Amino acid sequence: MFLSGKRALVTGSTSGIGLAIARALRAEGAEVVLNGFGDEAEIAKLREELGAIHVGADLTTREGCEELMAAAGPVDVLVNNAGMQYVSPVEDFPVGKWDAIIALNLTSAFHTIRLAVPHMKSAGWGRIINTASAHSKVASPFKSAYNAAKHGLDGLTKTVALEVATDGITCNCISPGYVWTPLVEGQIPDTMAARGLSRDEVINDVLLVKQATKKFVQPSEIGALAVFLCRDEAQNVTGANWSIDGGWTAE
Ligand code: NAD
Repeated sequence: MFLSGKRALVTGSTSGIGLAIARALRAEGAEVVLNGFGDEAEIAKLREELGAIHVGADLTTREGCEELMAAAGPVDVLVNNAGMQYVSPVEDFPVGKWDAIIALNLTSAFHTIRLAVPHMKSAGWGRIINTASAHSKVASPFKSAYNAAKHGLDGLTKTVALEVATDGITCNCISPGYVWTPLVEGQIPDTMAARGLSRDEVINDVLLVKQATKKFVQPSEIGALAVFLCRDEAQNVTGANWSIDGGWTAE
């Protein structure tokens, strides 16, 4: 329970990867702040399970990010995980979707980091973990906004890591390959349309084609990596972009 007495905020933690990270940090004793959308009753169950508070702020806006940070209070572990995806050829990419994806997948991390760092500096300890993606290192077609945001998140991570390196604070990306979550399930119909493929072809010939292990990553595996990054043994892991992608980006 090495995170007892520490407060962890995980954005986008009502589902998928963020929820798995919140559970893993809670299991090590952290007090957890949940964020994200969802069914009220389901969120109430999660709050009870994790002994957590929940702040449902919309992180596509600066005001939402500021509301979240004010409600969360000082955080020792900040996990910027909220994200969304949209699949379309660039010439048809809806401008509003571009703006929303950049706002949520990139700009919200800037806002939460700038607001979290002063407490971490005064505490002399902090952990910032950004859920990036294999798409922060390599591209796939039809994901212009997502790929741009995730590459940007990698740059933000490295910059912050250098700025806070002597303050006991680390800042890293975790970059998953495909993890079976609602975000991945939701992009299957659009990918079928964009590429003219069946559902099985999308799963086997698009999603898993580059994962050498031919397995989806499990959310709990990402939770375990986030826990490691919080440990004192990881104090020199900073500015890293840690792949957990079944070998995808090794090629
Ligand atoms: P998910 O759709 O299961 O969860 C997304 C979470 O973000 C939910 O809690 C949702 O309510 C929240 N959210 C959505 N819009 C929001 C908003 N405007 N403000 C606040 N919260 C909002 O997705 P996931 O697959 O668990 O993805 C989590 C992160 O992991 C994302 O950043 C995603 O890009 C990244 N990622 C996912 C995969 C994958 O294969 N699933 C791979 C690489 C990276």
